[in-house]
Amino acid sequence: MQKRLQSLPLKNIAIHDNYWSRYINTVPAGLSYQWDALNDRLPDAEKSYCMHNFKVAAGLEEGEFGGRCFQDSDVAKWLEGVAYYLETNRDPELEKIADEAIEIIGKAQQDDGYLDTYFIVAEPDKRWTNLRDWHELYCAGHFIEAAVAYYNSTGKDRLLKIICRYVDLICNTIGKEEGKIHGYPGHPEIELALVKLYRVTGEKRYLDLAKYFIDERGQQPVYFDMEKSRSDPQAAVDPQIFNHTYYQVHAPIREQDTAEGHAVRNAYLYTGVADVACETGDETLLKTCETIFDNIAEKRMYITGSIGSAANGERFSTDYDLPNHSSYSESCASIALAMFAKRMLEIKRDSKYADVMENALYNTVLAGISLEGNRFFYVNPLEVVPDVDEKNLDLRHVKTERQKWFGCACCPPNIIRTLASLGQYIYSADDENLFVNLYVSNETHCKIGGRDVTVSVRTQYPYGSGIEIKVKTDSDDPFTLALRLPKHTFLNRMTVDGAPAHEVLEKGYLKLKRNWKGETVVSILLDIPVLRIYANPKVRADIGRVALVKGPVVYCLEEADNGANLGGFELPDDAALREEYDNTLFGGTMTITAEGVKVVDDGNASLYRTTPPKKEKAVMKFVPYCYWNNRGKGEMLVWVCREIK
Ligand code: ZN
Repeated sequence: MQKRLQSLPLKNIAIHDNYWSRYINTVPAGLSYQWDALNDRLPDAEKSYCMHNFKVAAGLEEGEFGGRCFQDSDVAKWLEGVAYYLETNRDPELEKIADEAIEIIGKAQQDDGYLDTYFIVAEPDKRWTNLRDWHELYCAGHFIEAAVAYYNSTGKDRLLKIICRYVDLICNTIGKEEGKIHGYPGHPEIELALVKLYRVTGEKRYLDLAKYFIDERGQQPVYFDMEKSRSDPQAAVDPQIFNHTYYQVHAPIREQDTAEGHAVRNAYLYTGVADVACETGDETLLKTCETIFDNIAEKRMYITGSIGSAANGERFSTDYDLPNHSSYSESCASIALAMFAKRMLEIKRDSKYADVMENALYNTVLAGISLEGNRFFYVNPLEVVPDVDEKNLDLRHVKTERQKWFGCACCPPNIIRTLASLGQYIYSADDENLFVNLYVSNETHCKIGGRDVTVSVRTQYPYGSGIEIKVKTDSDDPFTLALRLPKHTFLNRMTVDGAPAHEVLEKGYLKLKRNWKGETVVSILLDIPVLRIYANPKVRADIGRVALVKGPVVYCLEEADNGANLGGFELPDDAALREEYDNTLFGGTMTITAEGVKVVDDGNASLYRTTPPKKEKAVMKFVPYCYWNNRGKGEMLVWVCREIK
């Protein structure tokens, strides 16, 4: 297996980008808002209880445990977000708040290293008795990620030491040796986190535990069937939904060949599988990752980069089952998919992985948060009709407006940690190559092998088509700059210091190997046309429909621009698609307009009739899907009807 590519350190990447900065600039206020949420200081929002639970566990506050059993993970993801933010920004006040939170977490830790407030406060006798449902290992995973990020960012090892003590207890409790629990998490996440912990500490037992979880998962007899603690209310769940595939234990990992079950769990699991494959050189695990990834990308993913089409179980159902209105499409699932894609990209160096990563990040992840950074979607369908969604209880998972917070608040801190760490997705590198995966305007200092290199990217991508990449170095030792040719874009022209470039296209990357000594300007002109996309006809929900994209950006119709009854619009196959940049909308966006037709109310009130409805010409205005619902409640539609003439 080829050595993996790695992200560049966030602290050396300064982003100032037309598409992303409007979101990234909300991160400091967003972290403050989320800290208020975690401390139950948001008026009229669902309570978190998160810091309350830690204070009770630490003996600093009286009271009972509040919220769900996995509430701890919210502050872990928040701390991880703080860590990434502090890596590129000085903010002593925020750092002090985070340090104080870490002290409270440390005080909550038990003498033997145990650290999960649900069991410390509410169920002290039931530790490790229900790995399937009670999320202990999931919460531990998020704390590992937070500790590694905080250590890398601030150099402070207090949280890392706390968490290593806890993970050492887990290593002594669960594993293949006799006397240990032969189990694995019901909600994967800790696998990828353990690999991060291994990489930062060099302690092989952490990698071994991640590998054990993956090797053991799905083996017969299935561990979850043998767990005895099922008398709790959370266990009284529908066995048709919460079956073996839900937990990805229907077969050993190396025999799994379709993406099954709870979408977030699946994508976190396979991110960890890819990490373990990479660290151990296990080709069988890598092959499984490729198979699962292809199944997702080619048969089970929405055009918006979201996954989990069935609300019951928040899960995958089957190939080509991609209903638009009832979709679950959790924000966390797209974040997890971007992580899985990133790992595969770093191992396989193939742009097809970056295409999925970019798709998830540019569409569903951003749809999950408002432009102000303080309202959130958990569920991200591709069609919304507020009156129906609010009255049809089969659609009650669909919120018609972004929410202040959630009782189960996995998504908001997940989105903010992703925004704060966007830099990790832009580049990947090894000693001989610098890959540019995402065209985001930024200035970066990096080491490629022993060479000091400064890279500056200027672009209006994805709305504008020019990309200028300035490379500066004192080294005359050649290396390769690999520039991605994104899906749905076409190379018009590429030059180096004004002269034609002699690039080689390899797995979707335009590669230039040369001596870069001095300052070199690489210019790329991409054609990024608005394209009509049609789904495979096996996707029943999209038959007779079309969606519009421009590069990675998926467009939608909104009621705010087009009036109600978006389902009544039809887009002719030959209608011109006009692009116009609107400076005043959403902080600046490319809009698309077309001459379409729309059914008209002809006064006929009968439910069924023998004559087709009348239509008239109507302008259709499309805006990027990620911005929908930033102008109040209203209908939204991605896949519009084609005009059948
Ligand atoms: Zn979530």
